[in-house]
Amino acid sequence: MKLRILVTGGAGFIGTNFVYHLMKRYPRYQILVLDALTYAGNLENFSSEIKENPNFRFIRGDVCDAALVLDLVREVDCVVHFAAETHVARSIFDDRKFFKTDVLGTQSVANAVLRNKDQIRRFIHVSTSEVYGTALYQPMDEDHPLNPMTPYAAAKAGADRLVYSYWRTYDLPTVIVRPFNQYGPYQHLEKVIPRFVSSALLGEPLTIHGDGTAKRDWLFVEETCKRLDLVLHADDADVRGQIFNLGSGFDLDILGVARTILKILGLSENLITFTPDRPGQVQHHISSTAKAEAVLKVHPCTHFQEGLEKTIAWYATHRTWWERMLSMRRVEIVGKDGTFQYY
Ligand code: NAD
Repeated sequence: MKLRILVTGGAGFIGTNFVYHLMKRYPRYQILVLDALTYAGNLENFSSEIKENPNFRFIRGDVCDAALVLDLVREVDCVVHFAAETHVARSIFDDRKFFKTDVLGTQSVANAVLRNKDQIRRFIHVSTSEVYGTALYQPMDEDHPLNPMTPYAAAKAGADRLVYSYWRTYDLPTVIVRPFNQYGPYQHLEKVIPRFVSSALLGEPLTIHGDGTAKRDWLFVEETCKRLDLVLHADDADVRGQIFNLGSGFDLDILGVARTILKILGLSENLITFTPDRPGQVQHHISSTAKAEAVLKVHPCTHFQEGLEKTIAWYATHRTWWERMLSMRRVEIVGKDGTFQYY
């Protein structure tokens, strides 16, 4: 089998890792990457070997450009839609772009899939666990109510339900995946693990929002890619119209993450500092992995410590990649009490 796959947002964190995964595992596949190269995307993520590979094509463009998206979808068999504005704090600073890219961008992708319904074998929409909000019960399964708590999560929930509605209305070959907290190489410094790792490597304080007890489910990005690969190649009858959590089932609070990073690097916990909590913070978040295990046959995944060691090793050897984004580690937003805070 030889697939042609459109990857939107492929120059961002998960997209880059997924493109590497596909090109290594399926050298005959044709990969089209559509990315607007916002501050979060970087064409230099791709090695010259990838960029010169005739099976790789990069198109700089906006997912909201319906005509462009339609042209590209016409050329492929599968669509994996990552493109989005993704940073929670930025969505509190200004949410308009989030609704444009995350909701209207998804509409233009879904509509292009609809117009090519007979040709598209799979349309994977990358949603997020943030659509669930804080856990009403644990672990959180795919039927957990959707209570998005930030403008980012609300925009992603809109996109998630839009794709669901396209499946119900038009029976498109959709699969919605809801990743929990992903980490690994190529993640922007604005996200918590790279922020902590870069601070630790620079000997600077690791700043925790709130008291550090907010818990997250952590999945190493190589595992994310393996799961997306399983979704891409699963039998239609098993996955069409389905929703899958992409989580590890392992949760750890933010304080625990900071401590683990410092321990791996042999640094003192005195580097940990605290700042008032970010509005809309999700307190508990742990994934049920039961459905992914039963349907996709997902295997037990990389241990958090091992994934973190690989991640730290990558950041330690790719300083020029991240040093240019040091000033973007914090965003100024207005808190509930009207005062400005950096997050
Ligand atoms: P990212 O911010 O690193 O990358 C997003 C990419 O989308 C960038 O390359 C950016 O240039 C591109 N992009 C933004 N606006 C665009 C537009 N209008 N047109 C075309 N391209 C555009 O994000 P990520 O962490 O790789 O996340 C990828 C997807 O996974 C997103 O949909 C996100 O909501 C979802 N997700 C991520 C996580 C996580 O922990 N990283 C967790 C759950 C869900």
